[in-house]
Amino acid sequence: MYRTCAFCNGKLDGDGGPTNLGVGRRLAFDEWKGRLWVICPRCSRWNLAPLDDRLERIEALARAAGDGRVAAATDQVALIRWRGYDLIRVGKPRRLEFATWRYGERLRARRQEQLKFVVPMTVAAVGLAVAVNVAAGGSVGVFVWNTPRLVKRIYVEMVGRRKIVLVEPPICERCGSVMLLRARHLERARVTTTAREGMALLLTCPSCGAEGTMLTGADAQFALRRGLTFLNLARGGRQRAEDAARLVEGAGGPHQLIHDVARRELTLRSLAPDRRLALEMAVDERAEVEELERQWKEAEEIAEIADGMLSADPTIDEEVRRLRERLDEKKER
Ligand SMILES: [Zn+2]
Ligand SMILES: [Zn+2]
Repeated sequence: MYRTCAFCNGKLDGDGGPTNLGVGRRLAFDEWKGRLWVICPRCSRWNLAPLDDRLERIEALARAAGDGRVAAATDQVALIRWRGYDLIRVGKPRRLEFATWRYGERLRARRQEQLKFVVPMTVAAVGLAVAVNVAAGGSVGVFVWNTPRLVKRIYVEMVGRRKIVLVEPPICERCGSVMLLRARHLERARVTTTAREGMALLLTCPSCGAEGTMLTGADAQFALRRGLTFLNLARGGRQRAEDAARLVEGAGGPHQLIHDVARRELTLRSLAPDRRLALEMAVDERAEVEELERQWKEAEEIAEIADGMLSADPTIDEEVRRLRERLDEKKER
């Protein structure tokens, strides 16, 4: 049984969970093609599992995935959390309607991150205020009352100052200055699309205020996520996962929502809060699963060759056919 990554020689983690492989915490599988991989915690490459009993292992994994929670999904790739494991189901196209749940998870994670900052700061500030209050004979109660709000403002300010570091810093076409961007500068950015590179972002220059450059590809995605995180925190209002999910699904999916926003040519600041949250969720989701999709394509290419060489034994093909038939039966029921 393999224990180390075939690519980086690092130790694989986990115990394989339902697969009985004895190794693996992040497991990817393709029911349709009968593939199973253990994902390396160090280099993220996908290690193909041995052929013996692979179909039984995949079945066990698919069952667990059915009880798990879908964290992100496209038509081709679903990331499912089940107990301590990350299960990645690839290949079999299916329509997933778990948007509300997915976005709810994201919002919860964000609130937790915020609390990690706000709670200790508040406790420290309140402790200090109580000490001062005692010394002053109980006259500074107002200060204690306002502390959480103040701490929240500090937190928002901090997120707004996060630098947006790109491989090549953009240069303003109008004034020629190098744009040193922070999350809060994205307020007046606009989402657009280009024929060649998909989503793009028009940026306003912090020095001269003109719309001075356009980011594309991964840069656009990265900057947009930073900017939206800040704006949704600073001017979020009530954030409800179900509203965001409804908007994304109503638009026809994350991809379509991004296009709709681009068509309207509004700055990020002037988007309605619920729509802005939906945009953030859509962009986040695409970024996460696009990365998984890329890794899967690479792993599948290797698997096709490796399995082809190993399965001179025709019973494997027979087994895959058997499993497919069973899946079809399940679908019909
Ligand atoms: Zn590795
Ligand atoms: Zn400029």
